[in-house]
Formats: sequence, structure tokens, C-alpha cells
Amino acid sequence: MENLDFRSDTVTKPTEAMREAMARAEVGDDVYGDDPTVNELQAYAAELTGMEAALYACSGTMGNLLALLSHCERGQGVMMGVGSHTWKNEGGGIAMFAGLMPFPLDDSSGVPTTESLHGAFLGGGNVHYAETTLLTLENTHNSAGGVPATPEALAVPAREARRMGMRVHLDGARIFDACAYFDADVKAYASEVDSLQICLSKGLCAPMGSMLCGGAEFIAKARKYRKSLGGGQRQSGIAAAAGLIALRDMRGRLKEDHANAALLADLLTNAGIGVDEVPARTNMVYFTLRSGEPNADALLSRCGAKGLLIGKAGERRVRMVTHFGLDEAAVRGAAEIVKEAFAQ
Ligand SMILES: *Cc1c(COP(=O)(O)O)cnc(C)c1O
Repeated sequence: MENLDFRSDTVTKPTEAMREAMARAEVGDDVYGDDPTVNELQAYAAELTGMEAALYACSGTMGNLLALLSHCERGQGVMMGVGSHTWKNEGGGIAMFAGLMPFPLDDSSGVPTTESLHGAFLGGGNVHYAETTLLTLENTHNSAGGVPATPEALAVPAREARRMGMRVHLDGARIFDACAYFDADVKAYASEVDSLQICLSKGLCAPMGSMLCGGAEFIAKARKYRKSLGGGQRQSGIAAAAGLIALRDMRGRLKEDHANAALLADLLTNAGIGVDEVPARTNMVYFTLRSGEPNADALLSRCGAKGLLIGKAGERRVRMVTHFGLDEAAVRGAAEIVKEAFAQ
């Protein structure tokens, strides 16, 4: 039997329609701007988000890094949540490649407060300062529990940052989960920020790639940096063909993942498992392991032995993510395995 894989929505595989489109894709050399499928994907992402332009990047990590490089000069400061993916999970690229100084914000609820922006801001031309020129936000917020923010909630720090003279980048790896949750148009988020990164390879099921969206000048800069980082690819229309299907056809079904995650959270909670509470749940269920319960490593190995893969988020915190390919029966089966693993 195949494993039930709840580690992440990144484990989704391309659909049959994607594989067919990939086989048929018209391609060219994208470094010359000659790949019609990449060009179509970029134009579609720009239109969908209401932004001037878009660039196909190899990964979400690369898309976020391109945004940092393109918005800022070396030695400047960027404010970001200490729970954010860019802070914790992108290999320190912000320091290694962008030469930026990160200023930490509390984003434990998903969205930092305007007060925290004021506290972290350094500016005004003082020679002592690494001038803070950029704020990064994340929606849905992964480590806060996959929490979605409404366009209105996200606009609060975004508008304040812009009023303070900063630009704003949104890590929208899972922005369409937020859109699905609130029935919101992605344009309502995009219009509040200067750039937006969207992962095609998570719940949207493409095998790879991310879209970086923003102004035309910003995207031209990002294209140059993408080349410098080795991300200029040739016949990448093969992968972009799947990306087009991801953006066009796969957004609508994300609500199913949310319903499955809600069911999973209920089943685990009813079994006495300490599911982390969230104000709104998209496709993630985190739970914290209390004393007397197995630690994360023990739970992972007990579940693994029964064919269930779950993610480690800390010594005593684990994560389960619902996605395409995990239906209600899979969720019920997984909950049973977790219960057995606790009782073992
Ligand atoms: C996955 C993820 C990324 C990075 O995407 P990769 O394609 O894995 O590099 C960025 N931000 C968030 C919030 C993510 O979950």
C-alpha cells in the first residue's frame, strides 16, 4: 500500500492533465524570452493578480530572494516575522546573497501589528542605521498554523509600512488558500503590496516553480538577478505548461483540502490530542505533544511504521497537511493511525 503522505502539500504530483500539457508544450529558449508557454504563464499570472508583470522562478525560495534583491540595496534593513518562511526556512539567503539586515517582528498570529513596525523601524538618513526599506508578509502563514489573513487584515501593516516609506513584499506561497478560505480575489491582496510570490508546486500540484509578480521595472530587475543566481532556464515551458493548469484549474479545489483539515483537526481533538487552535484553518493541522506523550521523533517513527508520514515542526510539535490526493477516507485512516501511535 502507498504511504499516506501528510508531510506537506509539496508532495502533490502533477495531474494527468498537467502531464499531457507538458508533453505537448510549445517551448523556446526562455533566457532569450522565446518560450511561448513561459510567456503565457507570466502574462496570465500578471493578469490574474492585476500586477504589471510576472516572472517564472524555479522555486518559492528563489522568488522571495529575487524580491529581496530587487527591492533593496546591500546593507539595508528588511522587517520580517521571526516565524516567517523567509526568516527560518530559506537557508539564510537574505544574508548570504542579498546582504540585508533582518529586523525581527512578532508574527505569531500571522500578521504583525503596526506597533511592531514602529518599534523595528530605523530610517531618516541617520548614518548609524541600516535603513529599513522593506517589509515582508506571509499569507497564509505557515508556522502560525496555515492561518489565512483577509485582505483587510493584511492591508493594516502593509499600508502602514508604505506610509512609513517602505515597500512591501508578500510571500503568498499559499495565497490561493487564503483566497479560497475567504472567497477573496487575489487582486485584493496584490493591490496592497509591491510584489507577490506564489508557489505553483504546493496545493496547486505543479511539479515545480513559483510566480513573482510586481511592477514592470521590478520584474525586469528580478529577471537579471534570476540569471545571476543560475535560475535562467531554457525550455522551461515544459514545466510552465503544468504551472498554467495549476493557476487556471487547481485553485477552485483548495476548499476540499480545508474541509479535510477541519475534519482531521476534529478527529484528533476528539481523541484528546492537543491540536493547536487557530482562528481559521486552511490545509494544516499542527499539534503539540505534551509531557507523557511521545516526542515528535517517536511519533513520526510509529506513524511511519504504519504507512503514515507526518511532518516534524519541533521536538514536540508536528504538522499534518491536507492536499490533492488525500480524500476523506485518507483523513479518517490517518487519524486512526495517529491515535494508535499515541496509545502505543
Ligand atoms: C514552501 C514555502 C516557500 C518556498 O517555496 P519552495 O518552492 O519550497 O522554495 C516560501 N514561503 C512559504 C510560506 C512556503 O510555505
